[in-house]
Amino acid sequence: MADSTARPSNFIRTIIDQDLAAGKHQQVQTRFPPEPNGYLHIGHAKSICLNFGLADDYQGHCNLRFDDTNPEKENLDYVRAIENDVKWLGFEWQGEPCYSSNYFDQLHAYAVELIEAGKAYVCFLNNEEMRAYRGTLTEPGKNSPYRDTPIAENLALFEKMRLGEFKEGECSLRAKIDMSSPFMCMRDPVLYRIKFADHHQTGDKWCIYPMYDFTHCISDAIENVTHSLCTLEFQDNRRLYDWVLDNISITSRPHQYEFSRLNLEYTVLSKRKLIALVENNHVDGWDDPRMPTIAGLRRRGYTPASIREFCQRIGVTKMDNMVEMAMLEACIRDDLNENAPRAMAVLDPIKLVIENYPSDQSETLKVVNHPQNEAFGTREVTFSKELYIEREDFRESANKKFKRLVLDKEVRLRGAYVVKALRCEKDADGNVTTVYCQYDADTLGKNPADGRSVKGVIHWVDAKTAKPAEVRLYDRLFKVPNPAAEEDFSAALNENSLQILNNCFVEASLAHAETDKPVQFERTGYFVRDIKPSDKLVFNRTVTLRDSWAKVENK
Ligand code: ATP
Ligand code: MG
Repeated sequence: MADSTARPSNFIRTIIDQDLAAGKHQQVQTRFPPEPNGYLHIGHAKSICLNFGLADDYQGHCNLRFDDTNPEKENLDYVRAIENDVKWLGFEWQGEPCYSSNYFDQLHAYAVELIEAGKAYVCFLNNEEMRAYRGTLTEPGKNSPYRDTPIAENLALFEKMRLGEFKEGECSLRAKIDMSSPFMCMRDPVLYRIKFADHHQTGDKWCIYPMYDFTHCISDAIENVTHSLCTLEFQDNRRLYDWVLDNISITSRPHQYEFSRLNLEYTVLSKRKLIALVENNHVDGWDDPRMPTIAGLRRRGYTPASIREFCQRIGVTKMDNMVEMAMLEACIRDDLNENAPRAMAVLDPIKLVIENYPSDQSETLKVVNHPQNEAFGTREVTFSKELYIEREDFRESANKKFKRLVLDKEVRLRGAYVVKALRCEKDADGNVTTVYCQYDADTLGKNPADGRSVKGVIHWVDAKTAKPAEVRLYDRLFKVPNPAAEEDFSAALNENSLQILNNCFVEASLAHAETDKPVQFERTGYFVRDIKPSDKLVFNRTVTLRDSWAKVENK
């Protein structure tokens, strides 16, 4: 599916257009700044499409920058997974990936500048005291007793911090701003804290690490970012972003703009919560096909184009809202309807025995791979005396609305002949196991000669050549639309979100199905071969053929 060509405008594009027209910038530079402390999710895709999309459209550049100032929570596996996901989504960053940790020396030098200017000080209040001194939204804070330490002393103390002469939590470097600011983030925020932790990029070089608010704006400035786009929860922090840049000697001047984050119904989009799902084994890893992660969506059969299209459709605004899962599903359905080849698979099989078909005979039929697009070509499927059909496609008796196989009635086998059901066999529990039928040899690719009309068409596979397969059906991961609002979100997990069918049969051509090429199983949905190597053939259902959620709601 091609992305819609004309991208809808949004308030950020309006700002960029104005900036370019006013000559404020010659070129647009953006960045996508993930913290490598988990896998990317569909919310990040919104930010990726926005940042890389703007750079593409304005012939500018977008950096991939790892915002890596929390060594204890970050690791190289996350770094690699993030790089992989951004590439898979179809975006290219400028040059090598950047790391905030690349700038630790510069950040340290700017912190020293602030101390020298009397705008930062080393504070020995512990966390609890600092909280008490900070005040509340309705009450101003109090100045720290360390606020007026002389500059020379602060410089020496900060150096001691760097050399590891203080314990973790014993002291921190704080900006000297305004303890009565209406913006809590301006009440002498911490700029540096002590952490005796090895860092995945800088090893044991540092035992002091800069805070996000100090790091992010300076990293943007170092990279000559023009428009620094982040989500609305950082709106207040823009004051601090600007304060830091206004008070150090850096000349480049990025500006921060905020947009609303993506919230998606029936799932959670927070790395902290997603980590909990993985660590508590509620799901089969970060790439479990029920996860809203890019890796999970990929394993589920979502295509990069469908995710980009989704980000296009949701748009970019400052309004907080909750997007329906149906919107995401509509994007992949539209894509696969157009682009997925068709194949036949029987998920809940019963035998169909054609009594008047010779048992030693087998023929090869040519069937089309896409009913609306000849370019998909044809493939061969074998046909013989014993087939499998779907249990729900047969009834002993039914009214006219049931356009499938009924005793004494006829139905067409997709791409093959018309058959008439004669009788059936059942097991001890009364479940049909085998249907016996006869076929009309004169109906291959044509209607019955005597003008009998046969309306129904059902899918089938040849028992001789079909491959056994396991098929996994997925439902929403949570039972409630907004699990993040629950006291214990894991209590809202849908215990029926995974249904495993391990008795399925797929046509022989699917033995070679690829893990990144979803197919439509005729009449049952879109499926993709599972990524995890297995000695079984395993397929994941990407999405049903039609929106079945409304139906689920009324159950
Ligand atoms: P999480 O809450 O999932 O931990 P985060 O914001 O801490 O997310 P980062 O790695 O810091 O994760 O995010 C990188 C970028 O992606 C940031 O610019 C952030 O604003 C953006 N982003 C994260 N979540 C969303 C979302 N749900 N919708 C849109 N953008 C998002
Ligand atoms: Mg973050």
